[in-house]
Amino acid sequence: MAKQEDLFKNVVSHAKEYGYIFQSSEIYDGLSAVYDYAQNGVELKKNIRDYWWKSMVQMHENIVGIDAAIFMHPTTWKASGHVDAFNDPLIDNKDSKKRYRADVLIEDYAEKLNQKAQKEIEKARGRFGEAFDEEQFVTTNERVKGYLDQKNAILQRMARGLESGDLADVKALIEELEIACPDSGSKNWTEVRQFNLMFGTKLGASADTAMDLYLRPETAQGIFVNFLNVQKTGRMKIPFGIAQTGKAFRNEIVARQFIFRMREFEQMEMQFFVKPGEEMKYYEYWKETRLKWHLSLGLGKENYRFHDHEKLAHYANAAADIEFNFPFGFKELEGIHSRTDFDLKAHEEFSGKKMQYFDTEENKNYTPYVVETSVGLDRMFLAVFSNSLKEETLEDGSTRTVLQLPSVLAPTKAAVLPLIKRDGLPELAKEIIEDLKWDFNVAYDEKDAVGRRYRRQDALGTPFCITVDHQTLEDKTVTIRHRDSMQQDRVAIADLRKIISEDVSMRNWLMKM
Ligand code: ATP
Repeated sequence: MAKQEDLFKNVVSHAKEYGYIFQSSEIYDGLSAVYDYAQNGVELKKNIRDYWWKSMVQMHENIVGIDAAIFMHPTTWKASGHVDAFNDPLIDNKDSKKRYRADVLIEDYAEKLNQKAQKEIEKARGRFGEAFDEEQFVTTNERVKGYLDQKNAILQRMARGLESGDLADVKALIEELEIACPDSGSKNWTEVRQFNLMFGTKLGASADTAMDLYLRPETAQGIFVNFLNVQKTGRMKIPFGIAQTGKAFRNEIVARQFIFRMREFEQMEMQFFVKPGEEMKYYEYWKETRLKWHLSLGLGKENYRFHDHEKLAHYANAAADIEFNFPFGFKELEGIHSRTDFDLKAHEEFSGKKMQYFDTEENKNYTPYVVETSVGLDRMFLAVFSNSLKEETLEDGSTRTVLQLPSVLAPTKAAVLPLIKRDGLPELAKEIIEDLKWDFNVAYDEKDAVGRRYRRQDALGTPFCITVDHQTLEDKTVTIRHRDSMQQDRVAIADLRKIISEDVSMRNWLMKM
């Protein structure tokens, strides 16, 4: 655990030191759970967004994008259920005065049981070797079965309590499990209460005519209210999707995990409209397709898992998370939800406008069902960034810090370095930059010995270093050094564009899907 915490601390300090993420309004001691993306962070974030947009919109003939406003008519949030039901159950510890989400305390407890079971499974796998049958072991080994049954019983009871509004039972569960405050160890809890996560604001100049608004807590509703506009003007035929990336705002109760849980964050969402009855087929399709997208980035298959929801949101008939192995354990990265016709029906009811689709093949109107994929851009950033940060021991015993970002996402694709600051080498290096900058973000660095410059680019995550030396003056060749292998090759300047392009092109990365 201590190691994990250290790793996470390293991630946070590396993100600041190398210009990826700063605390918001840092000179005023910051604002809790709000962050700014710095000069490199903004590039990485943009590349992740582009990678998503390309795979969803450009690569799907039947998916188009929109960019709806953050402000929406307040009735939107009545219809969507957010005014009444977008709550988190909160609980305070009376001794430490720390506030927690009651569901998270219980889920963490359940996850510990799960981990105990997984440990037994791994031990058995070691003992039985090739002949190991995991399914049989899990269903017959008393101890493992005990852990997993207990885990499921706890989660089901919590889900029942939250769904029926029986918060006293949620509190009773915390007490029965003897869950203690992670900060102080105290078990002296308040009652569990519901807390609405939407931020309110006002539109209009004078106090009496001003209209109460909310900052959108999800981007999805901007898609639903525009469903018919897009369908008609784009002549879209079901099944089709509408994609959107943009800011969302939630007054999170507990926000202590850097950019994992922010109060202002960005979502990348796609709503896929289907014929009623076909939603489960597309739900499975999008679960699989979205996992493939994540895997194409090469962060390791073992770092992802699906988690099917026990407690369904008020709008869903099936839901799963893609969880990622963050430095603090497996947590939700993306949600895939079968939202039924809940949203369109609700908007129809509240607006009095028809939100139906006319199916020309069937010659009838119906309200489409919706399958949603929703991934947090900031969480994607954290997944990529934390997984890429490595401390390596080299053959000579020295160590280096390297940020092994997937090259397609790296903020800067290449740094061009004159070996020394004279003899015309800087001028030549700048000529190379003048040519490459049409296609890639490239950096120039002439400060310090070249070995130190390599290390700095490694820590920044730059996939290539191009070094200009005296031989370059003679034969127009340079050395190109690869960040991960540290291998250096002598190549012609004329070939640089092709070499970099092949390595960083979205086409080549997305083809791995
Ligand atoms: P959690 O259970 O972690 O609060 P959620 O289930 O409420 O998340 P959704 O409403 O499904 O999240 O939102 C979709 C995605 O938006 C999440 O998978 C996550 O990646 C991202 N997201 C949600 N809340 C936040 C937040 N406060 N900060 C950063 N990203 C967020």
